[in-house]
Amino acid sequence: MSYEKERERMVANLRMVGHIKSREVVEAMRAIPRHVFVPESARSSAYHDTPLPIGEGQTISAPHMVGIMLERLDLKKGQNVFEVGGGSGYHAALVAHMVGEKGRIISMERIEVLAERARKAIEECGLRERVAVVVGDGSLGWEKGAPYDRIFITCASPEIPPPLVDQLKEGGKLLTPLGSRYLQTLVQVEKKGKKLKRKTYGGCVFVPLVGEYGFS
Ligand code: SAH
Repeated sequence: MSYEKERERMVANLRMVGHIKSREVVEAMRAIPRHVFVPESARSSAYHDTPLPIGEGQTISAPHMVGIMLERLDLKKGQNVFEVGGGSGYHAALVAHMVGEKGRIISMERIEVLAERARKAIEECGLRERVAVVVGDGSLGWEKGAPYDRIFITCASPEIPPPLVDQLKEGGKLLTPLGSRYLQTLVQVEKKGKKLKRKTYGGCVFVPLVGEYGFS
């Protein structure tokens, strides 16, 4: 089966079980080729609903988890987005598709070789103009690009890194897995003045955040 057909089938399955619903998320997952973001040795599994190794002990998240996060992020055209844990670049490419030509995403990854591979894959999708992959500890944010309409974290931490709350716009939303090293809950906060309106979603498992506000 061609990658296109496999991708269509993946999207149909994710819709059927209700992980993805909105037209925007469905269109993005149809458009972005996940196989471009996984190593050649794993390409035959690129459209299976499972995390896959991307090297350096890291993984690309399972498509259902990416879909769930895209639905919760409530993205709009033209938004300025920050990602912690760029990994393969797949999630960032989907966000770039959804925020459109006027939108921007800064995706921060601590491992240089992964960042370099992500840049190449993003370029292959024709999205280079909308995505900047930067290297560093994303738990400190990226002041130069702030404030952000949306922030999402694709690695697990025990608490929300305070610099990220500071770099979020008023009314902005931040989505992150919070909990222990081995099991987390997906949490979303909306910034309302000095308060954070918090919602919790289901359980999830992400690789740990390594950095100032990660696990010691
Ligand atoms: N969103 C990614 C998922 C990658 S897994 C994708 O679509 O493929 C999480 C990534 O977070 C790993 O690549 C890991 O190296 C990275 N990471 C862990 N701690 C980090 C930190 N403090 N800053 C930036 N990236 C971090």
